[in-house]
Amino acid sequence: MSSPSITPAPPQWPYCAHGAGPTDPVGCRGIHVPNHTACLAHLTDLDRNAYLATLTTGTEIDHRGTLFTAQLLGALLDALQDPTTQCAHFQSARFDEAQFFGVADFEGARFSGHAYFGGAQFASEAWFGEAQFSGDVEFAKARFSGNAVFVTARFSAAAHLREARFSGMAGFTLARLSGHAGFGEAQFSEMAWFNGACFSDDAMFAMAQFSSNVWFSDAQFEGAQTLDPLDSRTATCRRPTTCTCGRTGRTPRSARAGPAPACSC
Ligand SMILES: [Zn+2]
Repeated sequence: MSSPSITPAPPQWPYCAHGAGPTDPVGCRGIHVPNHTACLAHLTDLDRNAYLATLTTGTEIDHRGTLFTAQLLGALLDALQDPTTQCAHFQSARFDEAQFFGVADFEGARFSGHAYFGGAQFASEAWFGEAQFSGDVEFAKARFSGNAVFVTARFSAAAHLREARFSGMAGFTLARLSGHAGFGEAQFSEMAWFNGACFSDDAMFAMAQFSSNVWFSDAQFEGAQTLDPLDSRTATCRRPTTCTCGRTGRTPRSARAGPAPACSC
């Protein structure tokens, strides 16, 4: 697998530097795990396990710039698992510029604080279905190489996705965005679904680019006045007069990125 391109400038945080050399003076950009001089990916197994053992559900974590295999992410999510929901529960979470190789399975995760994924790169699928974000969410300039699934996700505060690039399908079916929803200059290379999504505040799609169809059937816009520059040839968008959609049931995995089930409200 080729590594996604990243800026060669060193990060602003104390970083791991694993593998630094003449051809790569920065090396690994992962932030130090507290009380260590390596990132989570490059700790010894002993130190990594000891760190993970300190985590409990609802912990604040910071793994900016870290490279996550599916296995490593799974170990982190397991350490943060809420026994009542069987899903990971974060306080604030910093994954700025992190790189996820393999499926990034955040399905059902809960973020009590802010969630930062700015500049993160998802080499495979990104699953955020049913995720709950209580604080601001930052996906600005994130790169989704596979399908990005936010089906029934709940964004209680601002959701910043400006300049995000979706190379696979993007599914926001039945998502609830209660704060500012910023998709300015986002790029959608494949189909995008916003069916049944509820936007309670402003929805900004200025200069967003849709290379394939985008669907807004049964979406609700309480705060948005316009959806410029969506093109009527590719966008299906209408404003239902009523939408009390509050579906909370689990969405079958097969429907993660597909067209929305019919809105029953
Ligand atoms: Zn590292």
